[in-house]
Amino acid sequence: MGTTTHSAAGLGRVVRPGDPDWNAARATFNVLIDQRPEAIAFPADEREVAAVIAYAHGRGLRVAPQATGHNPGPLGSLEGTLILHTSALTGVSINAAARRMRVGAATKWEAVTPRLSELGLAALHGSSPDVGIVGYSLGGGIGWLARRHGMQANAVTAVELVTAEGHLVRADAAHEPDLFWALRGGGGNFGVVTAIEFEVHPVRELYAGTMFFPVERASEVLQAWTGLLPGLPEEITSWASVMHFPPLPEVPEPVRGRSFVTVMAAFLGTEADGREMLRPLRAMGPEMDSFATQPPIALAELAMDPPDPLPYRTTTALLDDLPPAAIEELTRIAGPGSALTLLQLRHMGGALARREPGAGARATLPGRIALFGLGIVPHPGAEEPVAAELTQVAAAVAPHHVGDYPNFVEEPADASAFFDPATWARLREVKALYDPHDLFRGNHHIPPAEHA
Ligand SMILES: Cc1cc2nc3c(=O)[nH]c(=O)nc-3n(C[C@H](O)[C@H](O)[C@H](O)COP(=O)(O)OP(=O)(O)OC[C@H]3O[C@@H](n4cnc5c(N)ncnc54)[C@H](O)[C@@H]3O)c2cc1C
Repeated sequence: MGTTTHSAAGLGRVVRPGDPDWNAARATFNVLIDQRPEAIAFPADEREVAAVIAYAHGRGLRVAPQATGHNPGPLGSLEGTLILHTSALTGVSINAAARRMRVGAATKWEAVTPRLSELGLAALHGSSPDVGIVGYSLGGGIGWLARRHGMQANAVTAVELVTAEGHLVRADAAHEPDLFWALRGGGGNFGVVTAIEFEVHPVRELYAGTMFFPVERASEVLQAWTGLLPGLPEEITSWASVMHFPPLPEVPEPVRGRSFVTVMAAFLGTEADGREMLRPLRAMGPEMDSFATQPPIALAELAMDPPDPLPYRTTTALLDDLPPAAIEELTRIAGPGSALTLLQLRHMGGALARREPGAGARATLPGRIALFGLGIVPHPGAEEPVAAELTQVAAAVAPHHVGDYPNFVEEPADASAFFDPATWARLREVKALYDPHDLFRGNHHIPPAEHA
């Protein structure tokens, strides 16, 4: 594909505006995002990463690390910015006995979940196999085992990164502990991560699947689901969604072009216990029911996230409650005939609400439910109704809004709102230590502390 420019010694591949592969290089998962950086570098090892950082610094450019482009929106304008793409920093190794693994910064979840599953192990991945492990981990990372095992950020045991000064640093509990703390929640603001190590979990029993109900029953099903939540142990993580599947050939036939309210869950326990927990929902007579005892790989695609880039807009909120009146309003907006594609509600709490010793900057997340709404914008005319309904969704849950989860925020935002004041102040101090000139642009920006 295209040409490759090796314009300065030791930088590796660099693509610039006007190069034949420019449009491919600047593409992201959200095709509405029109990234226009000054250049895009694809270093292939730590030495080239350091050379790219020095090159950018020398020209007064800032550096935005990027892996898969699953969260480019918050970066906003890329004027004066060089994207450092990590797609050439590959490598995966699994130490099954130690339940640890190490991956290069290019690695997506899909490269590790099948191998882990064969070993009876699961990582704390999320809904999409296509998401990059490093970006997901640095922002928090909530997936199917989150209520039992917490966020992926806190499963991270070591991070290797190239700093603003071009040093390759290994940050772990014993080395550079402040940096290690800040990286686990503070995102790509401290350097370019080249590799990451993390714990994975043995999965002895897993009962997982989806119940599909007609979308007309959305209110009734969501009420039943929220009613169940207080009684569920943290071994079960469930998500309830209103889903409007587009009539596209790549969508599986039974759901293609149809709308449903779904309840998906992953239970770390026996089928008998799982069935008992979900009995009230099953008694409502789902149209399809895929729950079964499954290997961990079943979680990789349970959520049926789209595999290919799409044009879309989103909204998100962490909620302390979702009372019946709010559910009524949400289903009125997102139910039959809605312009939205997905309204997803994830059960939070459990380990997500517990601060474990040694946790990173993203130690916990507030709220009982995480809301995520998404509307596909297939043509410019669809933008307005999608935006209007996303605004209505946000308004419907505003009285219950207790925070935001940065990985789900896809627009430029004030990152101080994602942390309590003490955590935010400490993040800025660490930033001032490791990147005093604010060279690195994480998707959610943390500026260095200012000292008089
Ligand atoms: C379809 C879809 C499903 C998702 N599902 C979930 C989910 O279930 N749970 C969840 O928690 N999140 C989920 N997310 C959100 C996802 O975790 C974030 O979008 C995350 O930032 C993606 O990381 P990335 O590297 O793939 O994306 P990118 O856009 O490439 O990177 C995002 C940010 O990560 C940082 N970063 C990436 N690589 C590096 C690096 N090598 N060094 C330093 N910084 C780096 C940078 O700050 C960068 O701006 C989902 C997103 C999408 C689009």
